[in-house]
Amino acid sequence: MRWKDFARKEACGRSSQIMPALRHLVVILGDQLDPDSAALTDFDPEQDALWMAEVASESTKVWSHKARIAVFLSGMRHYAAAVRQRGWPLQYRTLDDPGNRGSLAAELADSLHRLKPQKVVLVEAGEWHVREAVRNTCAAAGVLLEEREDTHFLCSSTQFEAHAKGRKGLRMEFFYRELRQRTGLLMETDGTPAGGQWNFDHDNRGNFGKGGPDTLRGPRRFLPSEITKAVLELVEARFPDHPGKLAAFDWPVTPEDGLLALEDFIAQRLVDFGTYQDAMWTGEPWLYHSRLSVALNLKLLHPLTVCRAAEKAWREGRAPLAAVEGFIRQVLGWREYVRGIYWRFMPDYREMNALHAEQPLPGFYWTGKTEMRCLSQAIGQTLEYGYAHHIQRLMVTGLFALLLGVRPQEVHEWYLAVYVDAVEWVELPNTLGMSQYADGGIMASKPYAATGKYIQRMSNYCTGCPYNPAESTGPTACPFTTLYWDFLLRHEPLLRKNQRMSLQTKNLDRLDPAARKKITDQSDRLRVRFAAET
Ligand code: FAD
Ligand code: SF4
Repeated sequence: MRWKDFARKEACGRSSQIMPALRHLVVILGDQLDPDSAALTDFDPEQDALWMAEVASESTKVWSHKARIAVFLSGMRHYAAAVRQRGWPLQYRTLDDPGNRGSLAAELADSLHRLKPQKVVLVEAGEWHVREAVRNTCAAAGVLLEEREDTHFLCSSTQFEAHAKGRKGLRMEFFYRELRQRTGLLMETDGTPAGGQWNFDHDNRGNFGKGGPDTLRGPRRFLPSEITKAVLELVEARFPDHPGKLAAFDWPVTPEDGLLALEDFIAQRLVDFGTYQDAMWTGEPWLYHSRLSVALNLKLLHPLTVCRAAEKAWREGRAPLAAVEGFIRQVLGWREYVRGIYWRFMPDYREMNALHAEQPLPGFYWTGKTEMRCLSQAIGQTLEYGYAHHIQRLMVTGLFALLLGVRPQEVHEWYLAVYVDAVEWVELPNTLGMSQYADGGIMASKPYAATGKYIQRMSNYCTGCPYNPAESTGPTACPFTTLYWDFLLRHEPLLRKNQRMSLQTKNLDRLDPAARKKITDQSDRLRVRFAAET
């Protein structure tokens, strides 16, 4: 009997006694939902089977937001439905199956024992611990494992190593230029960058002024299908005490949704993406952002499709070059660069703590209940939607944790838990490296440290906040501003060695001993207060 027929009969509870030999067991992970994945190039339904498992440990290893759990489960179930429609054999374990063993390793070990495949085929995993779990499980079962390169990235780990070799330091800008040349994105035929320059950052730092953004047309929503509705119910029942809400769940969960989300972004928001990519506004979670990270990270969309669509909009005069370059820089530059950093420095990277930060994460990160308006806005929308845009993550929640001196591993676990797009390869370098400077400068050339005045310039959050971003001490001093000066004081010797911090450290010279003591005392009181609120 052929494997395909056996699997069909087994699914109907009519399996024969003799199980045919299984050539490849093709493992599809929750963030590998491309029906044309590299794992399937030689798939033969007569002798191979796909394997997927919903496991609780992936939702509980960090205290995951309900919407994050739902995005992955819904994506997986839609994928499984498409596979079944193709008539391909699929071994799929649901979360609510009473026999579910709760972890990827335990589920896979059981299947290897039962199905005895000649080989497991897998696209390289996106998280270090998943890669290790699969490798160890296959080795323990004595089954050959073939890991295939993930073609959803434009730079492989080998290419990143080649880029990094011999360099004193890694900087995104040089990496990005190499990728522009390699892909031809935004390049002229003579090899020069479109518009004569690589970088339009100076045009891309606008704020909304006092008037706020123009009337915004919200992004395209993807209302829950029957599959998604069942997942939302399951998540609510199984993880009732997890953070976050599901009421507004509208994320793209299929490749078709992903393409529609891309079209909507290109047509409606790309034009203003560049100018306002760093701006924030009360009650406006999306502004001109693409909301494409979920579709990209689950591999519903390919980054080249996304970048080419943006480039086409510029070439056809539908979007300015500065906006398009700013957007492509994020996808082609930052996204690929952080992945390279992750695989180059793991597993040690996860444990780095260059600034010796040991403060606990304040409890309001899980509730949004704080009188600091910027934080209550950024965390509030995170709990509502599982989303905050880059500057909210970097210069509000991340900045506060950096200045307060929170243990980077706690900050990492929070970011991995609360965002719908969170997968460790992208989350960890952004958190530990870019936001917390815990890697001592591998990822960023200097800490992203700023006073509350930065937030005041880029948003309207400070209006109506009980604190004043211009004050560093006293009852109405903005905690960001107090902690900023304290951060410079605490790390003065280290920061004085960094050329790029010279302007900021020079300002320390203006503080006499009494002023320094006032800042240190007020910061100590803030730390005691926030530690008590954890
Ligand atoms: P847009 O602003 O529209 O940007 C377009 C795309 O560019 C994004 O979809 C994303 O794929 C890519 N991109 C932009 N910035 C980055 C970046 N710094 N690194 C990698 N890709 C980038 N992104 C994740 O996908 N998952 C995470 O878990 C994650 N954690 C983060 C944690 C911190 C502390 C910080 C500072 C950033 C993090 N980011 C993460 C990067 C970025 O904030 C999100 O990709 C972005 O906010 C997603 O929203 P969007 O799709 O609307 O992005
Ligand atoms: Fe945030 Fe400080 Fe502004 Fe308040 S005053 S919103 S705490 S930056």
